[in-house]
Amino acid sequence: MTAPAPRSAAVIGGGIVGLSVALALQARGLGVAVYDAPEARAPASAGNAGHIAVEQHAPLASLANLRTLPGRLMRLGGPVSFPPAAIGHWLPFGLRLLRAAAPARFARGRQALGALLAEALPAWRRLLDAVGAPDLLRPQGNIVAWESPAGARRGRAALREDASPLAQWRDLTAAEAELLDGVVRLRPVDAVCIAGSASVADPGAVLEALRAALRAGGGTLDRRACTVAQARRSGADVIVVAAGVRSAPLLRELGHRAPLIAERGYHIQSARSRWPPSLPSVVFAERAVVATRFLSGLRATSILEFTHPDAPPDPRAWARLAAHAAALGLPFDGPLETWVGSRPTLPDYLPAIGRSAADPRVLYAFGHQHLGLTLGPVTGEIVAALACREAPAPDLAPFSVARFG
Ligand SMILES: Cc1cc2nc3c(=O)[nH]c(=O)nc-3n(C[C@H](O)[C@H](O)[C@H](O)COP(=O)(O)OP(=O)(O)OC[C@H]3O[C@@H](n4cnc5c(N)ncnc54)[C@H](O)[C@@H]3O)c2cc1C
Repeated sequence: MTAPAPRSAAVIGGGIVGLSVALALQARGLGVAVYDAPEARAPASAGNAGHIAVEQHAPLASLANLRTLPGRLMRLGGPVSFPPAAIGHWLPFGLRLLRAAAPARFARGRQALGALLAEALPAWRRLLDAVGAPDLLRPQGNIVAWESPAGARRGRAALREDASPLAQWRDLTAAEAELLDGVVRLRPVDAVCIAGSASVADPGAVLEALRAALRAGGGTLDRRACTVAQARRSGADVIVVAAGVRSAPLLRELGHRAPLIAERGYHIQSARSRWPPSLPSVVFAERAVVATRFLSGLRATSILEFTHPDAPPDPRAWARLAAHAAALGLPFDGPLETWVGSRPTLPDYLPAIGRSAADPRVLYAFGHQHLGLTLGPVTGEIVAALACREAPAPDLAPFSVARFG
């Protein structure tokens, strides 16, 4: 006998993944309640760089990344930080990452990630059209700029060797180069545009539009923390754990082990800026800094700090970002706001998307690491298909939480 179609859902987490899931379920006729706990700072879904990074098809758990790690450490001027106080978090995570970077696993991971990314931008279009906010998508690609000839040589070689089928890179047009020269004092020696990728006009505005659509469609948004046990008691037919970096303890209620780490990033932002909205976001490659002009202002993001989500922020990270911005001459024309938040990262740099083997009512969608904004809407569509007992495309075996034992 087939199970009756689900009529109600409780979604734990109201970031980009949870809201995308909630709206996809609502579109299929389910009554949806989203629980989104207030935190001291806005979640990663609000603080990110806004890039729909369809070109990033190589999982970051790779031998290539491990080889360059020593030169990218924060104490040598790079963005990667392993705080000594958090060794209990990053050491076990790092050992798992080493295993995940083995060539065969990396190749399988790349294929799995590529399958998700193939639908990422179309899913963004469908979602923003459905909520009546298509203008929040900026399909103008993004720019990668290098400040040294050696950096440009290495960067271009890497792009040639690992070209994405979804986003082709090209030289800047004269108009793009002129716009870029107009906003940075330190002129890059070389830059390319990754055409085919996109950005959102403002991550905060996107979340607002999704929340408004949820409410307009009869869904509820409860600003309280929720556990799986509480969601079960609510009587919902489907429960979705999409709580970003806080998802691991929720899954533990069902006996699943998810070795999530908080891979924290930092941003600085000023509401006023001369950066023209028509200039796409720019990755300053050697500095690992991304500058993006949002509706709410100019933002620069950087830093990969492997720690606990509640560890105190490291003020040196903001100072580092401000120093890069000053050296480049980025047009932060007003007071700077600072933010820190957690990328929810699993050691193989693949998300966890699937159905709990312990309770078939419970689905999960978390661990989207550097690609949560990119993959939120496609994840929503996949989870909604799963909730309605359809066979979702792509194959979800590589994303099962069971891969961690
Ligand atoms: C600096 C930086 C730059 C980034 N840039 C990009 C980018 O350009 N492109 C890209 O694709 N990705 C980017 N990312 C990654 C992306 O932001 C994340 O992967 C994504 O936001 C994760 O979304 P999420 O919904 O899973 O989690 P979150 O955004 O963390 O949302 C989870 C929500 O769940 C709530 N919650 C937690 N526990 C509970 C509970 N028990 N009950 C109820 N609610 C709960 C939290 O309060 C939170 O609101 C960036 C991240 C950072 C830090």
